Amino acid sequence: MDILLHICCGPCLIYPFGKLKEKGFNIRGYYYNPNLYPQDEYLRRVEALQLLCREFSLEVAYPGHNPEDFSRTVKSLEDPLAKQRCVLCWSLRLRKTAQAAREAGVKTFSTTLLVSPYQDHDALRRLGTQIARETGVDFYYEDFRPGFKWAQQEAKDKGIYRQKYCGCEYSMVKTKPAAPVQAKK
Ligand code: SF4
Repeated sequence: MDILLHICCGPCLIYPFGKLKEKGFNIRGYYYNPNLYPQDEYLRRVEALQLLCREFSLEVAYPGHNPEDFSRTVKSLEDPLAKQRCVLCWSLRLRKTAQAAREAGVKTFSTTLLVSPYQDHDALRRLGTQIARETGVDFYYEDFRPGFKWAQQEAKDKGIYRQKYCGCEYSMVKTKPAAPVQAKK
């Protein structure tokens, strides 16, 4: 069965990719993360993902960085530091993935965000279920968190870039900006 998997970053792909393969899914990746700031960070994460994709023979669609999608979404918040910002951020990325799945005739979608112990896992599950109802595309849910630490070590061993902050400019506090990189074609 085909699944369109929203990928937040390379390290978070590793464990869900293996689990979904074991379950017999034919995985296609979808890298839509307009929350990422600055653009160098976006490119750095793309580069890390592309290294893994070559190893996994995984095809990934890149609909573009489009940071204005994220700024438009959080602009409505009176306080951009409120927790609601993350809910809007997950919702934006998951909804776009579900819509892309529907357009491509793929019946199921999911997200690698489900591996992270740093995201609100229950909120993600609720959002995925709600978006599935709205779009008619099934949401595949699994708690991938038990594989998080193992996957981080794998990423380290493979020399894959592991970011120090979630992604948006509000989450950059106390982190140094990344050095500029170019995405490989
Ligand atoms: S902290 Fe992470 S989940 Fe929350 S808005 Fe920023 S990038 Fe999105």
